[in-house]
Amino acid sequence: MTDEFDTTVYYDDDADSTHIEDETVAVLGYGSQGHAHAQNLADSGVDVIVGLRDGSSSREAAEADGLDVATPKAAASEADIVSVLVPDTVQPAVYDDIRSELEAGDTLQFAHGFNVHYGQIEPPEDVDVTMIAPKSPGHLVRRNYENSEGTPGLLAVYQDATGDAKQEALAYGKAIGCTRAGVVETTFREETETDLFGEQAVLCGGVTELIKAGYETLVDAGYSPEMAYFECLNEMKLIVDLMYEGGMGEMWDSVSDTAEYGGLTRGEMIVDETARENMEEVLEAVQNGEFAREWITENQAGRPSYHQRRTAEKNHEIEDVGERLRELFAWADDADQTEESSDQQTTEKATADD
Ligand code: NDP
Ligand code: MG
Repeated sequence: MTDEFDTTVYYDDDADSTHIEDETVAVLGYGSQGHAHAQNLADSGVDVIVGLRDGSSSREAAEADGLDVATPKAAASEADIVSVLVPDTVQPAVYDDIRSELEAGDTLQFAHGFNVHYGQIEPPEDVDVTMIAPKSPGHLVRRNYENSEGTPGLLAVYQDATGDAKQEALAYGKAIGCTRAGVVETTFREETETDLFGEQAVLCGGVTELIKAGYETLVDAGYSPEMAYFECLNEMKLIVDLMYEGGMGEMWDSVSDTAEYGGLTRGEMIVDETARENMEEVLEAVQNGEFAREWITENQAGRPSYHQRRTAEKNHEIEDVGERLRELFAWADDADQTEESSDQQTTEKATADD
């Protein structure tokens, strides 16, 4: 265990497998996270039942992997730990179906805090509610485990009815391979709110709008779409890779002095006071539940705005230009082939850094 920057990181030695080895885990869902948790748990000697709805398209895969499959309700009724790994938007309905099977002392285990934090799932007071959230897509959680490597993860305890919630969550984290790399303790609130803010303001929302605005500015000024694509989208990866490896410093050291001076003086003209105020607004809507309510209502209505925006994004000119250019240039062919191995390197690096 290490204490650094106020965070606690747990490793294999901090987790005691006896807290899970006699338990039965129902893994609800056999998608990205579900297939990885279920197989890693089983390979770690834990009893696993996969819970899937009748007619589920995942059933064949789970059975082919040698796992027992039942309905979510039947699986939950057998289990001491119910790991909820269906998509976040369907979790409340699946929970309603299985809640009658939860007994005092059982555990509800999550990989993301959205539904519990925003009150879409209200667990009974006599069960433990925990989170082990691998910071990686499921196929890497599985592959790393098979390669005797780990996947970093987050741990949180929302409700400790038994007094054993954290030890059991750590043992779960160990069984899926997370404590090999390091598990950071957080809360359901912190995990949910930072995750939503990050994807909205910086990662998914912020970065796509920045790229499109830059592209449109150049094209509107008469420059060629190809040049605009290279400058604003393609080079993004090179810059982000440098920052990932060695922080902003490595990036600034690697670009020319002209780029460094221009970036240092002009960057804050783009992300200016107004942009920062907008970020605060986005964070506020995450914190006060306004975004969550909007997304829940949007789902109930059949996702009209989601589908409309998705189509508009797909039809943006930059997508056409990019498709043509990626076909023309050699790096495009590599992209598909190296995707897997660069995922692998990324994880190895993250692991080594821990
Ligand atoms: P997936 O979308 O991959 O889950 C698909 C699985 O859920 C399938 O087995 C599917 O079965 C089942 N499913 C879908 N709809 C229903 C339904 N209505 N009733 C019952 N089963 C259903 O989910 P993820 O693995 O992406 O996400 C699971 C959790 O993990 C979420 O909380 C997510 O936030 C979290 N998480 C995800 C990460 C990721 O990289 N994907 C990373 C970290 C956390 P069927 O064939 O029946 O449709
Ligand atoms: Mg228990």
